[in-house]
Amino acid sequence: MAMKQPHVVIFPFPLQGHMKPLLCLAELLCHAGLHVTYVNTHQTHERLANLQALSTHFPTLHFESISDGFPDDHPRTMNLEFFITFKKSIRPHFRELLKTISLKAESNDALVPPPSCIMTDGLVTFAFDVAEELGLPILSYNVPCPRYLWTCLCLPKLIEDGQLPFQDDDMTVEITGVPGMEGLLYRQDLPGFCLVKEADHPALQFFMNETQILKRASALILDTVYELDAPFLSHMALIFPKIYTLGPLHSLLNSQIGDVSRGLASHGSLWKSDLNCMTWLDSQSSRSVIYVSFGTLVHLTRDQVIEFWYGLVNSGHPFLWVMRSDTTSGGPQIPAELESGTKERGYIVNWVSQEEVLTHKSVGGFLTHSGWNSTLESIVSGLPMICWPNLGDHHIVCRTVCQKWKIGLQLNENCDRSNIESMIRTLMGPKREEIQSSMDAVSKLARDSVAKGGSSHNNLEQLIEYIRNLRD
Ligand code: UDP
Repeated sequence: MAMKQPHVVIFPFPLQGHMKPLLCLAELLCHAGLHVTYVNTHQTHERLANLQALSTHFPTLHFESISDGFPDDHPRTMNLEFFITFKKSIRPHFRELLKTISLKAESNDALVPPPSCIMTDGLVTFAFDVAEELGLPILSYNVPCPRYLWTCLCLPKLIEDGQLPFQDDDMTVEITGVPGMEGLLYRQDLPGFCLVKEADHPALQFFMNETQILKRASALILDTVYELDAPFLSHMALIFPKIYTLGPLHSLLNSQIGDVSRGLASHGSLWKSDLNCMTWLDSQSSRSVIYVSFGTLVHLTRDQVIEFWYGLVNSGHPFLWVMRSDTTSGGPQIPAELESGTKERGYIVNWVSQEEVLTHKSVGGFLTHSGWNSTLESIVSGLPMICWPNLGDHHIVCRTVCQKWKIGLQLNENCDRSNIESMIRTLMGPKREEIQSSMDAVSKLARDSVAKGGSSHNNLEQLIEYIRNLRD
C-alpha cells in the first residue's frame, strides 16, 4: 500500500526561517501518507532538533544530508558571493543524492518509491536544472512574504518603466506598476539590492534573475491566506499554472495533527529552547509582557542593543527578549552595569519556542523585525505588533501590517530609547483596543483558512491530489 504513495524530495535553503515551514509541510504530506525525503546540508542536519522523534512519529518521513560544497570552517555569511557560490557548489551533491535515492528505489525490497517531484524553496534555484535534467517536476515553495515575491517578479517591468533604478534619494516615492499593490509599495519598502544606481548592478541582476527562474515551476506554494492576499494573487495566477496558498502553515499543521509536533520541544529549530522562560511568563500578569525577537538574520549594533534595553526598561512593561550570541558582533550584549535592571523587569534568552510564547496569556505585544514567519505566527495568536523592519521582505511586510491590515505600529529605523518607550506604551495602552480589534478580524481569517472547509485546508487537499496525479 505504502509503495503506491508518491515521494516528494524537499530541499529548504539552510536557514531557520526556511527550514521550519518546509518541515511543517513535509509533516503534512506524510500525514496524508506521502513519502517525503527532507534534505539538509551537513551543518543544519547536525543542529535540527528532534529528527529521530519525527521519523518515529512519521514513518514515511526520511532525512538526508549533503555537503554544501564549502569547507566546514567557512563562515557561510549570507552575502551575494555566498549565494552565487552556493548555487554552484551544492548542485553536484544534490544531483548525486537524487540518483542514489532513485537507485535504491529500484531494488526489489525497496520500501520507498523513486522521487515523484522535487519541492524546493525560492532560494534553491539550482534544483530547477537538476530536476529538469532528471525529468522530475519541480514545485516551488516561497518562504518570504508573497507580496515581496510578486514585487521581485515585477522588477524587469519596473526597470523597463524607468522606475528602477532611481537616481535621487527621495525614498517616499510610490512604486506603481505592481498590480494589486497600489498605495502599498514605496521606494523605502524595496529590498537592498534594488537600491542601486545601475540596472546592470550584479546584485540586482542576480536576485532578479533568480526570481524569474521560479516561473519554470509546475506549481507555486505560498505561505499565506488567500483571503488576505487575493488582490495580487489573481495577477500572479496569470504567470504560474497552479498556485496553492497554504498559510499559515504552522497553524495548518497544528490544526491537522494537533499538538503532536509542538509537543517536541524546539520543533524545527536550529537552537535549543529555553523552557524556564515559560515559568517566568506564568508569573506575569495577563497581557502585560512585551515579547522581543528580531529573528535569526538581523544584527544589531551595540548602541542599538542599549537603546532597545533602555526603551524596554523605561516602558514599565515586563519583557522577554530573544538575543542570540550572534545578535551583535563582539563584546557582551547587555553591559554588566545594566543587567541588574534587566533582572527586575526582563528576561533575556538565547532562543524560545516562539509559537508557544506568542500564545501565552501574559504576552500582550510583539516587538518584531517583521520576518514573514514571525508575522504569521503573531497573526494566528492575535498579537499586535511593533515593527522594526530591517532587510529583505521586512519593509513590505511592515507596510502591510501597519498600513493595510492595521495590526501593528511602525518603529522608525533610527530608533532611540524614548521612541521605543513611547511606542511600547502606545501599543500596550491607548492604541491597544483599536489595533486588537483589527487583529482579531485578520486573525480570524487566518484561523478559518486552516480549519476544515477553509481555503488553506482545501488547497492542501488539492496539492496532495495534484502530487498524486503527477505520477500518472
Ligand atoms: N524563532 C523561534 N524562537 C526564537 C526566535 C525565532 O522559534 O527564539 C522562529 C520563529 O518562530 C520563526 C523563525 O524563527 O518561525 C524566524 O523566521 P522569520 O521569518 O520571522 O525571520 P528570519 O529569521 O527568517 O529573519
